[in-house]
Amino acid sequence: MSLNDQQFMRYSRHLLMDDIGEAGQEKLLNAHVLIVGMGGLGCPVSLYLAAAGIGRLSICDGDTVDQSNLQRQVLYTSDDCGKPKVECAAQRLAELNPEVQISAYAEKVTEQILAVDYSLVVDCTDNLAARQQLNAHCYQRKLPFVSASALGWEGQIMAFDFAHNSSLCLNCIINKDSAEPIMNCGNSGVVGPVLGAMGSLQATTVIRILLGFFQQHGQVQRYDGKAGQWLALKAQADKECAVCGS
Ligand SMILES: [Zn+2]
Repeated sequence: MSLNDQQFMRYSRHLLMDDIGEAGQEKLLNAHVLIVGMGGLGCPVSLYLAAAGIGRLSICDGDTVDQSNLQRQVLYTSDDCGKPKVECAAQRLAELNPEVQISAYAEKVTEQILAVDYSLVVDCTDNLAARQQLNAHCYQRKLPFVSASALGWEGQIMAFDFAHNSSLCLNCIINKDSAEPIMNCGNSGVVGPVLGAMGSLQATTVIRILLGFFQQHGQVQRYDGKAGQWLALKAQADKECAVCGS
């Protein structure tokens, strides 16, 4: 496959970069990425990935747009309230880049949705059970997995290149934090652009992984938006981990 004239124009700012170029753009066009959760993280992730020319995007979320979402879920407008998020999102993303094939699932992620052959899975959910399900699936299938979360002023992102590295997984890290109360953006506050920052980083990480530039398997990066500071942590494998332990 080679790029057509329109694609040369649309993706020219990738093509100008030596380490992306036409070969890199073709990798993006050939990828199929699953985004689970179309809230404050899924909105920027899907926008940037559609704009970047990821060939196929599957988006999955069972919720409808609520007025209280509009403070941070930047794909949706006031008129969208009451409509399924994935329907509104699919329409916006198609307007942005009609070339992208979009599959929209207006439901929580199921085994059937996961059974499709993806290049990579992005976790944009706000609950632990879904994260654990996606982590275990990606570990078993040796699929790259990019996860993020945000609460209040703080965000965190971690990614796992299970295709090349099985030394630790999200479950190893979650277990260590199990004493933390379960909070999410639905029942406590969050600063909208902190989600935007984490979502943009998830999209950047997806592109890095697809192009073969990712080396930070299991590294956790935390952003404190109030202090304006970043922290990188090297997570450790849990030998008794139910997912990746021996
Ligand atoms: Zn593990």
